[in-house]
Amino acid sequence: MKKRITKTERGYDIVNKDPYLPRGASGKLAVCEGCQAVYMKKRWYLKVDAAKTAGVPVTKVVCPACLKIRDNFPGGIVTVSGDFVIARKEEFLHLVRNEEQRARGFNPLERVMSIKENGHGSIVINTTNEKLAQRIGRAMKKAFHGEVTYRWSHDDKLVRVDWVREAA
Ligand SMILES: [Zn+2]
Repeated sequence: MKKRITKTERGYDIVNKDPYLPRGASGKLAVCEGCQAVYMKKRWYLKVDAAKTAGVPVTKVVCPACLKIRDNFPGGIVTVSGDFVIARKEEFLHLVRNEEQRARGFNPLERVMSIKENGHGSIVINTTNEKLAQRIGRAMKKAFHGEVTYRWSHDDKLVRVDWVREAA
């Protein structure tokens, strides 16, 4: 298990790993119609300096994160549960939003897709990629302690992160 965490944290190898990346877009400039993220030189950016893109033809696309949100195809599912969550719900939601903001600064494709409460004291957070789910798991462990486990699908495309703490 330790080895697998290292592998997935290695960096943003999104070009080779992500089935939602636009084909044939390398070397060109593309802008997402949904979130305005910019695809340039095989990387996605939140924004690109206009001077760098002057005169470059722009293609309109839908980015992998917006496609995954549309298709409800998460890369990470974080489930938090236990009495502690009920007492501190606002703090959990705040932490999730903070981690999303931070992650988007590195990679605009790391987004929270949905946050759902199931009414039994647990919250389920779907993310567009597995790295953001891991970040949220680590941040919760750091902030609130508790127990966190990570389980990957066979193809490493989906991680389930389960965080639990019973005592408030
Ligand atoms: Zn987008």
